Amino acid sequence: RYILAIESSCDETSVAVVSEDNQLLANVVASQILSHKRFGGVVPEVASRHHVEQITLCMKLALEEANITVSELSAVAVTEGPGLVGALLIGISAAKAFAWANGLPLIPVNHMAGHIYAASYVKPLEFPLMALLVSGGHTELVYMREHGSYEVIGETRDDAAGEAYDKVGRVLGLAYPSGKELDELAHLGADTFNFPRAMLREPNYDFSFSGLKSSFINTVHNARQKEVNLDKNDLAASFQASVIEVLVTKTLKACQEYPVKQLVVAGGVAANKGLRAEIKTAITEISPKVELIVPPLHLCGDNAGMIGAAAWIEFSKGNLADWDLNAEPSLTL
Ligand code: ATP
Ligand code: MG
Ligand code: FE
Repeated sequence: RYILAIESSCDETSVAVVSEDNQLLANVVASQILSHKRFGGVVPEVASRHHVEQITLCMKLALEEANITVSELSAVAVTEGPGLVGALLIGISAAKAFAWANGLPLIPVNHMAGHIYAASYVKPLEFPLMALLVSGGHTELVYMREHGSYEVIGETRDDAAGEAYDKVGRVLGLAYPSGKELDELAHLGADTFNFPRAMLREPNYDFSFSGLKSSFINTVHNARQKEVNLDKNDLAASFQASVIEVLVTKTLKACQEYPVKQLVVAGGVAANKGLRAEIKTAITEISPKVELIVPPLHLCGDNAGMIGAAAWIEFSKGNLADWDLNAEPSLTL
C-alpha cells in the first residue's frame, strides 16, 4: 500500500510516493529558487505560476520513479498549510483532482508536522518526544506524547531563525536564501562581535531573533558609514554563535524538564552544520539518554516525502478531508 504525497506550500513543488512501512520510493523536488533569487525573496505570484507548470510533471515523475501503478495507491496526501495561499491551492487542487478521478481518499497534512516526520526516515519515532522545529517561517519547541499529537511549548515572538539568516545575509550581499552560505562563512570566522543572546535566561521556551538581526544590521551599517571594513566570516560566525547558543540552551532545558525519549531537530535550518554539531555535543554531555534524530540534509528542506510520512499517521487515525478542503495559510500544530 502506498500514499502519493504533494507539497507546494512555498517555493518547492514536490511529489513523493511513500509505502505503509515508511519506505520513500520517490521524492521529486522541483525548486524555484533561481526564479526568486533576483527579487531577494519568494514572490507569491511567481511561486503559484511555477507550481502550476510543475505539478503534473512531478506527479508523473514520482509515479514512474516509484515504479508503481495508480491502482496500488491507498490515498493522496497534500499539505493544507501553513504557507502561501496561492501556492498551497495548486497542490490542493491537483491532489483533489487526482484523488477524485481515481476514487482515492484525500489526507490533509500540516507542513510543520511533515518537517518533524522527516526524522522518521532515520529511525522510528518514539514517545514522549521533543522537537526543535527551525525553518524559514517557524522556530518552535514541540512536545509529542504520541503519534500525531503536538503541544507547542515555546515559539519565536518575532522572526524565525531561518528568516533572520536570510535577512542578515541580504545585508552582506549574499543571494537568497542565505542560510547555507552564512553557515559556510561562519566556519571560517570567529565569534568576535558578541551579539545579544535574547531570552536565554528567561523561564520559558520562547525565542526572539529580531534584536540579534537589528544588532547585526546596525553593526554593518555603522562600519560602512565610517568606512571601516568588517570581516564577513567573523560577522557570520558571531551571528551563528548567537543563534545556536539560544537554540541549543533552550532545547536542552526542555529535554531536562520534560520526560523525553527522543529529540528531533527538523526544518530547513536543521541543515545547519554548526547547529547539528553543537546540539549533538550538548545532548551527549547533558542528557545522554535522549536519542537525537536529525534528518539527512535533503529531507530538512521542503519535500513531499516528509508529508507522506506524516500522512500515514493521519490516515491510521481516519483523518480524511472532504472535497471542500481549503488552504489554511496560518495553520498551527
Ligand atoms: P516553514 O517550513 O516555516 O513554512 P519554509 O518552508 O519556507 O518555512 P524551509 O524550507 O523549511 O522553510 O527552510 C528554509 C530556510 O532554511 C531558509 O530560511 C534558509 O535560509 C534556511 N537554511 C537552509 N540551510 C541552512 C543552513 N545550512 N543554515 C541555516 N539556515 C539554513
Ligand atoms: Mg523553500
Ligand atoms: Fe518548510
